[in-house]
Amino acid sequence: MSKVVGIDLGTTNSLIATLDEGQPWVIPDEDGELLLPSYVGMNEAGKLLVGRSAQRQYAAAPERTVKSIKRQMGTDYRVTLGDSDYSPQEISAILLRSLKQRAEETLEEEITQAVITVPAYFTDAQRQATKEAGEIAGLEVLQILNEPTAAALVFDDRSEITENVLVYDLGGGTFDVSIVEMTGDVTEVLASHGNNRLGGDDFDRQLQRHLADKFRQAHDIETPSDAATQARLLQAAEKAKVALSTNAFTTVREPFLASQGKTALHLETEISRADFESLITPLLKDTIEAIDRALSDAQMETEDIDRVILVGGSTRIPLVQQMVENHLPGISVSSFNPDLCVGLGAALQAGVLSGEAVESILVDVIPHSLGIAAVMETAFGLTPDMFSTIIPRNSVIPTSRSQVYRTSYDRQDIVEIEVYQGENAIARENVPLGSFKIEGLPPKPAGALPIEVHFDFDLNGILTVTATEKGKGQQSSFVVNNAETGRLSSHEVEQSRNAIGSLFDIPAIAFAEEDETAEEE
Ligand code: AMP
Repeated sequence: MSKVVGIDLGTTNSLIATLDEGQPWVIPDEDGELLLPSYVGMNEAGKLLVGRSAQRQYAAAPERTVKSIKRQMGTDYRVTLGDSDYSPQEISAILLRSLKQRAEETLEEEITQAVITVPAYFTDAQRQATKEAGEIAGLEVLQILNEPTAAALVFDDRSEITENVLVYDLGGGTFDVSIVEMTGDVTEVLASHGNNRLGGDDFDRQLQRHLADKFRQAHDIETPSDAATQARLLQAAEKAKVALSTNAFTTVREPFLASQGKTALHLETEISRADFESLITPLLKDTIEAIDRALSDAQMETEDIDRVILVGGSTRIPLVQQMVENHLPGISVSSFNPDLCVGLGAALQAGVLSGEAVESILVDVIPHSLGIAAVMETAFGLTPDMFSTIIPRNSVIPTSRSQVYRTSYDRQDIVEIEVYQGENAIARENVPLGSFKIEGLPPKPAGALPIEVHFDFDLNGILTVTATEKGKGQQSSFVVNNAETGRLSSHEVEQSRNAIGSLFDIPAIAFAEEDETAEEE
């Protein structure tokens, strides 16, 4: 049986890992780099660039470079590269395919199956899009695994003592906090909270604005608004941010950022760690509040937590660690390769699924409540369009639940099942996942005809809804994979696979394109 791999498909960086004698390791590229920057681009000659080479051209050619595509997963966003338009799935598939190639070259065998991680807070549409990206890249996705769960697997010492671990994961573009219960081989996510639009990218943008302010103060003009200048500023901001994790001050120098008449204007400014910290503190406060929400969802107090694990590149920022420690006094906070551990955990899980000798069993939870719109009894009497939860969030998956509803008026001959995900009592305030109808119901008085609505949520986060009219046994079912959530048909997956495949067939793309003479960042 061929090797199964674990893939951390990150907003900023991605990686591929596998197991060797039960131990996970990250597969490096030919230069020994473990992380693949999640950048895809086209060079001037129309050749595909993946990873570091695409990242390098970003400042000079942002219009030909795609970054942070993970933020668009599950939407119908399109991105133009060269002469063609691509979906977020296709761009992600290019990254996955590049990782797959890297693994195949190193392991000297074909890789066809993978476990891919996503933030615990990812919606169904985002999970589905990730699975499609895997398929387009030619991978069978054995499981879509929550990132904090993957991380917890790495730290699991497989002791028989039950430990409650809080996983705080702050990456480039997403944030999750999860409470994971570990007992021997069983890992169970008790609660998960987060924001899939918060991460290091936001800190970069705060610092980018700060740099633009400094430039204005120095020269009394705005920084040019063109994409190339703004991309340079953003890259300088990220570099400064990383430097401030180890230094109390850093100097940003960007020569020739603008000109005034014949005079070239440079940006040169010193930033202190304290300046940076005051810029990001409001964002970090949101992450600390999420800790409390996760604790209350898991019906736990701070004292119930035995250990905190920090995951994600942004947890290297000293203030992040400090704020987490201050909020959870007396609890040990551990961090080990925060940018690698999700991928390593994915490899462990891949090993479990392929029957390798890895002793752990995984139990996962659903991040959002799922239910339908229904007429419900409220303080105002019978009220239509209320959200009736069928699977409450934080239920262990896979799970199947049913609920019985009744017709609401005499001789009602049709019911529409509108499926939503979210936590609001008003159905329409939640995320609509789709709807379907059962028609031709037998004429009965109001409330006399029961209809059972069954939700089946599988390990990959795919929801199948079935409604059965109890009288005649008429059944109608529906999988959440409709157009509104930007899903692709298998024909479209095939088309996209061919489209990106032909890009890979152009000689000297992807890896060979790395510019040997370019400066290392
Ligand atoms: P990840 O998504 O886990 O790969 O994390 C990527 C994010 O971590 C990016 O926003 C990076 O800029 C950020 N990052 C990586 N290393 C550091 C560091 N030493 N200090 C601050 N942020 C970092």
